[in-house]
Amino acid sequence: MDKDRFEKLKKQEVNVIRSLLKKQNEMLGQSLLHLDHLIYLQKSISLMSLADIFKVLAGKLPYILFIRYFSLFLFDKNKKALSLACHNHPGLTEKIVLRQGDSEIMDEAIARGSYVLESDYAQSRFFHGTTNSLFEHNFFLTIPLMIENEIIGVLNLNDNEKGNFNVTDLDYFLNVSEFISLSISNAQSFEKAERLSVTDGLTGLTNRQHLEAALMSEIFRSRRYRSPLSLVMMDVDYFKGVNDTFGHQEGDDVLVSVASIIKSLCRSHDVAARYGGEEFVLVLPETNGSGARNIAERVREEVESHRFSHEGKVHSVTISCGIAELDIEGDQSFSDLIGVADGALYQAKTSGRNRTILGGGDEIFKGG
Ligand code: GH3
Ligand code: MG
Ligand code: MG
Repeated sequence: MDKDRFEKLKKQEVNVIRSLLKKQNEMLGQSLLHLDHLIYLQKSISLMSLADIFKVLAGKLPYILFIRYFSLFLFDKNKKALSLACHNHPGLTEKIVLRQGDSEIMDEAIARGSYVLESDYAQSRFFHGTTNSLFEHNFFLTIPLMIENEIIGVLNLNDNEKGNFNVTDLDYFLNVSEFISLSISNAQSFEKAERLSVTDGLTGLTNRQHLEAALMSEIFRSRRYRSPLSLVMMDVDYFKGVNDTFGHQEGDDVLVSVASIIKSLCRSHDVAARYGGEEFVLVLPETNGSGARNIAERVREEVESHRFSHEGKVHSVTISCGIAELDIEGDQSFSDLIGVADGALYQAKTSGRNRTILGGGDEIFKGG
């Protein structure tokens, strides 16, 4: 080989190596940028509440992923429903809940348990000539959000800002989506644990532990703002007989129905609690004894007129109620207040049941 040719080849080789190094440098730079963004996202959304996570994602995700549009749906596996949790589409304002069959793309991602990627939405088999407000033109990527093979949501990414899309981007998007899945799942578990710790599993009412805390803070508020506060204690009459006649399951169904009657007659700041087996307590802020009596009587009448049906047999139950009104000048503790309501309830029971008695006096309100 002559010297010139050798020099030429060498130069060519140097150029190839130079351009390879340049490419590698670019890729390394992009990876570092991706890593930087990932760390930024991790700092922003780990250990947050669901609402906060969605707020941060709506603001930061497009920038972090270099995409124009995204939407994130949460998946309810029992209802097989997808509900829109956050997005940055300017046109979408309403709450969207999609059932199976409503979105071919997301259904496919869920069924596959893996992403669906199309480089041009308009050319894809998912495009049916209609404008889908979730997918604008150009590429779209639908990623199921999964935790240990269970789908908890779907992330749709759409329309690359850079105008191109490569394999490194896909890896990066999948990594980010895994991270989002983890944060959402942690927040969901935390919120569920919190909910369970304050509610009764059967009826969904406040549980006894939380009732005591809520009552103490209401007593404090009532004294501070000098506003009335009352407590109603309710007990289903002859409930043992319901279990004995119709079985324990029907007994449970009766408790659930009584709880939902109580809930339906409560105002938003009232606290309705299951106090024990078939005993319920209502904490009524801004309500004096006579107001509480009206509410208790409405619950009592509603329960009395409700018809239960078990294997073709119709039956009904009644409740007895005892009321205590807080003496805001006095120093009653929450257990004193419960004691007064319990005493009134006892009187309601011994004087014939299916009635309401206001503690501290001898007014008796009897229905039926
Ligand atoms: P009273 O009119 O004096 O209140 O009579 P009662 O039969 O309602 O009262 P008693 O205290 O004798 O019986 C209450 C029954 O409630 C006994 C218990 O088996 C039943 N019970 C308690 N918790 C539950 C529950 O979660 N589900 C069902 N099905 N029954 C329950
Ligand atoms: Mg009881
Ligand atoms: Mg009872």
